[in-house]
Amino acid sequence: MDQNAIEQFRGQHRGTVIERHDSLYDEARALYNGMIDKRPLLIARCLDVADVTCAIQLARDQRLLVAIRGGGHNGPGLGSCDDGLVIDLSAMKGVRVDPERKTVRVEAGCTTGDVDHATHVFGLAVPFGIMSTTGVAGLTLGGGMGYLSRKHGLTIDNLIEADVVLADGTFVTTDRERHSDLFWALRGGGGNFGVVTSFLFQAHPVREVYAGPIFWDIADARVVMRAYRDFLPSAPEELGAFIGLKTVPCADPFPRAHWGKRVCAVVCSHNGSVAAGQQALAPLLDAVPRPLFNWMSAMPFPAMQALFDGLLPKGLQWYWKGDFVRTLSDEAIDVHITHAGRSPSALSLMHLYPIDGAVRRVGADATAWGARNATWSMVIAGIDSAAESAEALKHWGRAYWQAVHPFNLEGGYVNFLMDEPAGRVQASYGDNYERLSRIKAKFDPTNLFRVNHNIEPAKSARASR
Ligand SMILES: Cc1cc2nc3c(=O)[nH]c(=O)nc-3n(C[C@H](O)[C@H](O)[C@H](O)COP(=O)(O)OP(=O)(O)OC[C@H]3O[C@@H](n4cnc5c(N)ncnc54)[C@H](O)[C@@H]3O)c2cc1C
Repeated sequence: MDQNAIEQFRGQHRGTVIERHDSLYDEARALYNGMIDKRPLLIARCLDVADVTCAIQLARDQRLLVAIRGGGHNGPGLGSCDDGLVIDLSAMKGVRVDPERKTVRVEAGCTTGDVDHATHVFGLAVPFGIMSTTGVAGLTLGGGMGYLSRKHGLTIDNLIEADVVLADGTFVTTDRERHSDLFWALRGGGGNFGVVTSFLFQAHPVREVYAGPIFWDIADARVVMRAYRDFLPSAPEELGAFIGLKTVPCADPFPRAHWGKRVCAVVCSHNGSVAAGQQALAPLLDAVPRPLFNWMSAMPFPAMQALFDGLLPKGLQWYWKGDFVRTLSDEAIDVHITHAGRSPSALSLMHLYPIDGAVRRVGADATAWGARNATWSMVIAGIDSAAESAEALKHWGRAYWQAVHPFNLEGGYVNFLMDEPAGRVQASYGDNYERLSRIKAKFDPTNLFRVNHNIEPAKSARASR
């Protein structure tokens, strides 16, 4: 690339511009998933909308491949690219809570933990995911599900407004009235439509929760999974509860006697008093054997959101596979138990996150997110600290997914997809894909933003805005 253009860009850009020879380069290009090793030409760490605008201009002038990075948590590393420009938003950390309206404005570099910290003091929270280190931007644009979703919907169902720099460099604010087609597409369509620089969310009253994990021996997994499946539809929506198959980590504070045991876990967060939480869970606990341990207790919501952060630091090897699931048959449960039992590492897991309650009350075509008719979002994640494990993680994840996929829906949650066969992105959006493709043609006709689970611009629909 022309060095003069880089120097000129440095002059216009207030944030840090990082090239391959800079001492910051390796740290700046590192992603959450240690399995991904991308070497961009240039990283533009933006401080404001003006920085984003001139980065897009540079990419257009120099015909550079562009990746957009929020929290850098994406499984296949779609927050970076080889030999192109990374628009890195991680330094844009502003959060402003409006306690009267119960809204929060969030800049695009925030993690969910940044926002939970800022809202908690006002007794509020936005429905995000289950870890505090995940980027708000990528999580939101893909949908966003977590403990508060049964009661308050996906993250996108709580999005009120977004600021976006489009592929042609123009800046727009979009909501249900302004550029409503763009606003529809942003709610699930990923990073396909522009660089979102800030989000305005609806928050909800959440202070202390009754929360934590409950672990059963794998010998009880069949009974627990069936009981959980049957319990969930009548459980109060204040109870967020996902189920997983995993291994007890060989680390404190887990009881040494159980280190390395394969387990079935239900991880819960009940927004309400301890007594109400115990009452909500009782029908499940009454229907299953005694757990190995039950760590449900009262805690501040941000503590629950950060509960697994220490176990899963940046830089581990991750291999993901995901599917949407409508029904969980007894036969499918047996397939899960068999394959989870072959997991290649202590951290590898399978989780099923509920899609019900408020998530289901939003119409199938009200947002781009394509699975309001599913019941769970499944993720299989092979995880380990050793780079040498990468092939074993992939092998296990693929074999597990192939065995269980026939029981599931065709598509999966885009935030849980990795290296997918052709057609999976379309399947994940279902009937909404065509409309997404037309909106892509309108806002990004040359597919500048293609380092993502890509929605190709419709050929016949290059309408002007
Ligand atoms: C440990 C872990 C736990 C997780 N738990 C959950 C969970 O509970 N619930 C859930 O829903 N998901 C969960 N996820 C998945 C998570 O939502 C995705 O990995 C998501 O892509 C992360 O967003 P990010 O901003 O950190 O990613 P990045 O890697 O920075 O970006 C991911 C994608 O988003 C796009 N993007 C990022 N920022 C912007 C922007 N400002 N404008 C336009 N496009 C942008 C990029 O194009 C890229 O394709 C989890 C992931 C991990 C690793």
